[in-house]
Amino acid sequence: MAANIIDGKAFAATVREKVAGHVTRLKEEHGITPGLAVVLVGEDPASQVYVRSKGKQTVEVGMNSFEHKLDAATSEADLLALIDQLNNDPTVHGILVQMPLPKHLDEDLVINSIAPQKDVDGFHISNVGLLATGQKSMVPCTPLGCLMMLRDYHGSLSGMDAVVIGRSNIVGKPMAQLLLGESCTVTIAHSRTKDLPDVVRRADIVVAAVGRPEMVPADWIKEGATVIDVGINRIERDGKKKLVGDVDFAPCAERAGAITPVPGGVGPMTIACLLANTVTACCRANNLAEPEGLTA
Ligand code: NAD
Repeated sequence: MAANIIDGKAFAATVREKVAGHVTRLKEEHGITPGLAVVLVGEDPASQVYVRSKGKQTVEVGMNSFEHKLDAATSEADLLALIDQLNNDPTVHGILVQMPLPKHLDEDLVINSIAPQKDVDGFHISNVGLLATGQKSMVPCTPLGCLMMLRDYHGSLSGMDAVVIGRSNIVGKPMAQLLLGESCTVTIAHSRTKDLPDVVRRADIVVAAVGRPEMVPADWIKEGATVIDVGINRIERDGKKKLVGDVDFAPCAERAGAITPVPGGVGPMTIACLLANTVTACCRANNLAEPEGLTA
């Protein structure tokens, strides 16, 4: 049986449309324009591409985009001073500091200096704690995007067996918390997991967030399972550069019930969820009803 392909590109477009609708309402009914500030330190080429794309999409949905590009040698004190200024700026509802930072800057310190209610990446320790205890928080964008796709496909996830491969703070752990919040039975697998194939074979939902090209073969996938592939791996095959996920897509698609492709699956959802988080943060800051369907 060939799986349903979950089209993240199309889904992300519907999320952006919803966000744009809320932005219009905030402007027309309340005179408020949501604003997202993105801080980039240094000249990492991949980070520059991400920041450009985030800025472009922010403007496309009608929000204000504030870009702060700092020199690679910027001191920690200067970066923290900028974050403090953004924390206190009422036109800024979301703040994102693009990672990775140059080595001399303490990433944890920087993230935890962002006001939690403006932490649209959801990495601040307060938001991590709120998510872990099932309270209202800012949810990391990539796992939020995965959750939206799973909810859209299944409706209720209650009682399903979910395996998350990868235990990073930005994907694996928050993904597991979200699935637990949906009443799944959750297993977090990682590089030291014994008999990973056996663990994955039990799963109704597999989320792969490892960063190893096509490491999940078809015979690990339970017939009819839903497979969410977070991995983004650049490889060269037959002399051509290619983007592949952590899942061996074509054979896995023969066994799965539904599967996300790479590219065009989880990737496009991440920025869409950043925009969703910014509009949510703006509504919360102004004591307005939160947009439905854009939060966890
Ligand atoms: P990470 O390197 O921080 O974490 C990888 C995790 O995989 C670790 O917890 C590790 O224990 C686990 N792991 C490593 N080897 C393993 C193995 N052989 N078996 C089982 N588990 C193993 O990575 P990350 O930041 O969580 O990102 C994971 C992947 O997701 C990367 O390819 C990254 O590019 C991609 N990613 C995509 C998006 C997106 O928007 N689609 C966002 C973030 C990350």
